[in-house]
Amino acid sequence: MSQPQTAITPRRDEDFPEWYQQVVRAADLAENSDVRGCMVIKPWGYGLWENMQRIFDGMLKETGHRNAYFPLFIPLSYLAKEAAHVEGFAKECAVVTHHRLEADGRGGLRPAPAAELTEPLIVRPTSETIIGASYAKWVQSYRDLPILINQWCNVVRWEMRPRLFLRTAEFLWQEGHTAHESAEQALQETDLILGLYEKFARDYLALPVITGEKSEAERFPGAVKTLCIEAMVQDRKAIQAGTSHFLGQNFAKASEIKFQSREGKEEYAWTTSWGVSTRLIGTVLMAHSDDDGLILPPRIAPAQIVILPIAPKPETRDAVFAAADKLAAELRAQTAFGEKISVEVDKRDIGGGTKSWEWIKKGVPIRIELGPRDLEKGTVAVARRDRGPKEKEFVPNAEFVAKAGAVLEEFQAGLLARAAAYRDQHTVKIDTKEEFYAFFTPKSSDKPEIHGGFALAHWNGSSAVEEKIKEDLKVTIRCIPFNAPEEDGKCILTGEPSKRRVVWAKSY
Ligand code: AMP
Repeated sequence: MSQPQTAITPRRDEDFPEWYQQVVRAADLAENSDVRGCMVIKPWGYGLWENMQRIFDGMLKETGHRNAYFPLFIPLSYLAKEAAHVEGFAKECAVVTHHRLEADGRGGLRPAPAAELTEPLIVRPTSETIIGASYAKWVQSYRDLPILINQWCNVVRWEMRPRLFLRTAEFLWQEGHTAHESAEQALQETDLILGLYEKFARDYLALPVITGEKSEAERFPGAVKTLCIEAMVQDRKAIQAGTSHFLGQNFAKASEIKFQSREGKEEYAWTTSWGVSTRLIGTVLMAHSDDDGLILPPRIAPAQIVILPIAPKPETRDAVFAAADKLAAELRAQTAFGEKISVEVDKRDIGGGTKSWEWIKKGVPIRIELGPRDLEKGTVAVARRDRGPKEKEFVPNAEFVAKAGAVLEEFQAGLLARAAAYRDQHTVKIDTKEEFYAFFTPKSSDKPEIHGGFALAHWNGSSAVEEKIKEDLKVTIRCIPFNAPEEDGKCILTGEPSKRRVVWAKSY
């Protein structure tokens, strides 16, 4: 049987990575720039990011955090202060060595040899060390603690295999950096933030993430403990959607963040750091979209409802446009999720079919068509992005206005339920090596790229086992999950005793 024509070619089951690129393009979210690995985020994509920022920023403020801003450039010697940290990031650092250009004598330009910096500057890949330098000045006594600061900014990591949103050389993020009196308080902070990430992902992005701790091999360079949220997307791979690090006293020692304790002793502070990035946009896309393009959770959609006035004849245009504006105003006075509904009216002079498909591909949750006949009847044609593209419901105008908020809320809940069901369907307990290897090896009947899922399997705790499995299957431990009960079992590779299952998957 032939498949129905879809707006996106190829379909997910034909070529998932290419489908992803095409959805980004069709939704007009972003594009590759002339600078390798760096993207241009277009208004629809940036609108998504602005909503994410606004929501998460609110959550941070509510929990006592404040925003500040630190320099883009980090002196090389700062980065070098924490050994594991520099080792982890050295391979992907952009380095500034000169502060002036001069003519090269062949009609071009070159960095002026006379303007070489005495100390090279690193474009921040993350800001622990530069922020630590400030904290060292700000903290003298236990009275100066805790410091709960967040920064919204861009960072640069020279990624060799870039992919729009998911892994770019420059990306936008928030990075929180806190300093505390005790290990206990810093650990509490690390947990608190992970809880916020989980809530943000679940309640706003409709992503039912798994929470847990990273194994040593996957830990942030320099951290004592890395906690994470991991999402499953529709090719059943995992995406690390956010991380919260307990840094112990490692960075405090490197940056000399010392304070006089309540007992009058000089002690090093205990610090944390945590971040989520524009990767979340790619994660949302891969988790929810279909073969007609993007599907957006209403809580983060730059527009929740789009009204498409259909007025091919000039004599009806004014009346239809006026009705569309009136309907938009009525809808904007309604609420969904306790906030005003966001509505856009698309009056562009392009064919109704083309226009409608543009909004389908952009993932706007609800489309409303309004034409001269609807005006006469007092109805609107309502189409939902979580149903088929041709499915329309004709509803009396006032009735739709009254229930719009509830429809958006139901839409949001439906996306979360669907993503959770998908994740559960592809999360399996595995107890033998044979089964484990078979699970992560595509069968000939599998669609290319789409196989496997999350395997819950026992592990003896050794990095050598992780390395072997990574080498054989490109599968890693995504996390040691929090909600898993203790249970006696045998390591999937060595048969050695294990107390707990961990989550294994291929990942982005
Ligand atoms: P990290 O500081 O390495 O823990 O990174 C914090 C978060 O940023 C990670 O959990 C990822 O979700 C995200 N992230 C890391 N590298 C990239 C990248 N190259 N592009 C986009 N997001 C990234």
